[in-house]
Amino acid sequence: MSAGTTSESPDTAPAWVAFCPRCASPMRTRFVVDKPRRACPACGYVYFTDPKVGVGVAVLDDGKLLLVRRARNPERGKWSLPAGFVDQGEDPGVAAAREALEETGLVVAIDSVIDVYFNPPDQGSASIFILYRATRIEGEPVAGDDADAAGFFGLDQLPELAFASTRAAVAQLLHGQ
Ligand SMILES: [Zn+2]
Repeated sequence: MSAGTTSESPDTAPAWVAFCPRCASPMRTRFVVDKPRRACPACGYVYFTDPKVGVGVAVLDDGKLLLVRRARNPERGKWSLPAGFVDQGEDPGVAAAREALEETGLVVAIDSVIDVYFNPPDQGSASIFILYRATRIEGEPVAGDDADAAGFFGLDQLPELAFASTRAAVAQLLHGQ
């Protein structure tokens, strides 16, 4: 137990937060709001590990679902819904439409929230994921950004999907038809 409390609570008190971003003093771990967190003994700054929020769109057009093929790992070469991370200060619906445009070239209108998903922490993925139903406004699918292919697929002819969360979301979508 060389790292003490820090090693027991990497989720809320990551050891890599070594120095205060406000005053550059060495950070310590102490209990703040019921959990061990990295805090600055000099100025009182507390590092809160906010959840990472992702958004995605399910665009059905003429009974077909819009998918993108992943150009990067993890799960490179498999297909997923257009999705990405919400930027600081960005409305999540706006972020979802932005990701659709960046990855597929399609202008979409956000219609409604399908569901909100929680993913246990792992490497890099969003811990909170909001899936929106969206409508194609204009454009033809052209892959961009993190995708190397984009297209519409019949619901009985879906390609291999990346991530258990994508498969669960698509299954939920299909049962909701
Ligand atoms: Zn400080």
